[in-house]
Amino acid sequence: MATIRGIQHVFLDIDGVLMLGDLPIPGGTATVNKLESLGIGVTYVTNTTRKPRRKLQEQLQKLGFHLTDNDIICPAIIAREKIMRMKRSSAALFVNDGVMEDFEGLRVQRRDVGSVVMGDLGDKFTPEILDEIFRLTFSGANLIALQKNRFWRDQGGLRLDLGPYVAAIEYATGRRAEIVGKPSPGYFRGLLERQQVRPETTLMVGDDIEADVHGAQRLGIKTVLVKTGKYDFDFIKRTTIKPDAVIPSIADLPAALGIEA
Ligand SMILES: [Mg+2]
Repeated sequence: MATIRGIQHVFLDIDGVLMLGDLPIPGGTATVNKLESLGIGVTYVTNTTRKPRRKLQEQLQKLGFHLTDNDIICPAIIAREKIMRMKRSSAALFVNDGVMEDFEGLRVQRRDVGSVVMGDLGDKFTPEILDEIFRLTFSGANLIALQKNRFWRDQGGLRLDLGPYVAAIEYATGRRAEIVGKPSPGYFRGLLERQQVRPETTLMVGDDIEADVHGAQRLGIKTVLVKTGKYDFDFIKRTTIKPDAVIPSIADLPAALGIEA
């Protein structure tokens, strides 16, 4: 495996890279400590739409990571900033209760809204809720999706993610959702600007070949795929997307970067 050199900043996915469900994946804190000891910046970039940023920060802190909430970028935060900048800053939020606090300050209503936000409602995506989202979008509201992942994996196995539900609304309305999470190019461009880093010296580490690897690659960011989390060999074999390196887990990242102790 070729060593990836010259990296100055790392975008780290959280689910499937540092944690599986609520359990830590071994080697995460040691790797981040190693990166930071060498002056390599770390930003935690997640498509999680089930927990607010504050909770993610608390969880990571408990696992031994040192970070502030500004070090974590999640789709709800990006969506809120986007809607606040719009002329019609009212929104209907179809998001997990847990993530509501990340939308603080928005005018939230269920009728005559400027935007509809789809987050991960899990088993609360009932036909009635999908009809409501459909009607609001069909009658002119912007459709914003916090992410469009196909599936994810928790301790119970593979599960449908938000993407299939977003696709259903797009199909019914003939309109495209604006995706504010990975792999949207706008998301990665925003990340580079926010952190003031250049793509060629930045690395994205993730377990999702599409959301993490493909999304980052389109902007020239280097990529590493870990084999933990949702990494699925059959799916990887069927895709033409090639990360710069594939490693067993986050514990192997220093070796891939040639910065082992
Ligand atoms: Mg992941």
